[in-house]
Amino acid sequence: MTAKEIRQAYLDFFKSKNHEVVPSAPIVVKNDPTLLFTNAGMNQFKDAFLGNAEPKAARVTDTQKCLRVSGKHNDLEEVGHDTYHHTMFEMLGNWSFGDYFKEDAIAWAWELLVDVFKLDSDRIYVTVFEGDESENLSSDDDAKNYWLKWVSEDRILNGNKKDNFWEMGDQGPCGPSSEIHFDLRPQEEREKVDGKSLVNMDHPEVVEIWNLVFMEFNRKADGSLERLPAQHVDTGMGFERLCMIIQGVRSNYDTDVFTPIISQIERLSGKKKTDSEKTLVAMRVIADHIRAIAFAIADGQLPSNNGAGYVIRRILRRATRYAYSVLDLKQPFMHELIAVLASEMGDAFPEIISQQGLVENVIQEEETSFLRTLEQGLKRLDDIIEQTSSTTIDGVKAFELYDTFGFPVDLTSLILRERGLDLDQAGFDAEMTVQKNRSRAATKMSTDDWVEIRKDAREEFIGYDSLQSTVHIAKYREV
Ligand code: ATP
Ligand code: MG
Ligand code: MG
Ligand code: MG
Repeated sequence: MTAKEIRQAYLDFFKSKNHEVVPSAPIVVKNDPTLLFTNAGMNQFKDAFLGNAEPKAARVTDTQKCLRVSGKHNDLEEVGHDTYHHTMFEMLGNWSFGDYFKEDAIAWAWELLVDVFKLDSDRIYVTVFEGDESENLSSDDDAKNYWLKWVSEDRILNGNKKDNFWEMGDQGPCGPSSEIHFDLRPQEEREKVDGKSLVNMDHPEVVEIWNLVFMEFNRKADGSLERLPAQHVDTGMGFERLCMIIQGVRSNYDTDVFTPIISQIERLSGKKKTDSEKTLVAMRVIADHIRAIAFAIADGQLPSNNGAGYVIRRILRRATRYAYSVLDLKQPFMHELIAVLASEMGDAFPEIISQQGLVENVIQEEETSFLRTLEQGLKRLDDIIEQTSSTTIDGVKAFELYDTFGFPVDLTSLILRERGLDLDQAGFDAEMTVQKNRSRAATKMSTDDWVEIRKDAREEFIGYDSLQSTVHIAKYREV
């Protein structure tokens, strides 16, 4: 099955169980001071769970664009290191608002995976919440009993609060969860080591695919839990991981969600992903980051110097740095990946087509200016080298390069090494720690640079100064 077919089959399945198919909410969150970006399918239903709003229907399903780059769920640093955590990913979900509960949620999850998608049931493990005394929460025996209809007891694991009590952030609706994991390892390896021992161990081939959350509580600002007025179901399945399993590959990047983007990066750079491990990692990082950047811009979040815009700017620069230093791409190129995204994802997310021109122009502009900064950084590094008499370059100076010019430290050490010089890494790291603390404080701040783009805006992008008048941007400010 292709990715498109898998997405559609998911939605069709829940439609057949009387769910209304609803669109994804924007990836940027405008009016919630506790959240910069949508980090789970349930975000848009928060008020319905809390009892503050009527849900559109008692049962809904969708695929939600998620971004996990800040706050409680931050996977940015995993990207490039593992093959199943992305910045932007799609979360397939089905919800019940005070309608069905654990029994149906579990039965349908099983039916979909085993009967519809034909996953090998011998490779599936499930987890249930073991309870938590400090919060006065009991173990989820109901969920366990419903699972026992489908799986044997030795495939059911107990999980602690960290893994089996789902929370959106520091506040909001939450509840015990039951997760489904899949063992992708070959038969010989499965015989040697029981897959059960690898669940929740961050094993690259024993991966979590689906989280069924039984929403029963609200975490209040003071940290206490209160019962919600009704019991709800909130599920989230990683679409790219599901595609990996169904398509029989070992990495999300080998599914057709990513291969068209990676092929385009290969064409543009004249390099192959098989050239070296470093090349492969760089291509994965770029393929991942371009999705995050493109969808954030399409939803109105432009790169900027603070709040959510700064997060997007940093993701874009991270991708540019990999391209510059590993793929030798010294000219803007990322905007040339947007057409691929539009043709692969435009069916499910039409905004990527309607905003294509804007997205391309913003990215090209941003890349151009960052590449200029990189060039300036190179010159500054030359000066530093000239002015230094020792063979070790001061970490504080290297940090200044990184901080002011966005000049990557790995590039600094590479250049230094080529010239027989060393970097004072400890000095650099110390400065970095100071800055990390600062930016942690910054992401806690509410955003002040939200923009809403007219739905049909395709005007020519001239630059940031004139952007507001040409694209009719309305500014919102958090209150
Ligand atoms: P993990 O333990 O792998 O980090 P999670 O427990 O943080 O996942 P949930 O919050 O339970 O994830 O989200 C529901 C599902 O979304 C997960 O079961 C997984 O399939 C998928 N998912 C979560 N984070 C990512 C990510 N960064 N990239 C791709 N898919 C993800
Ligand atoms: Mg996680
Ligand atoms: Mg998990
Ligand atoms: Mg989970």
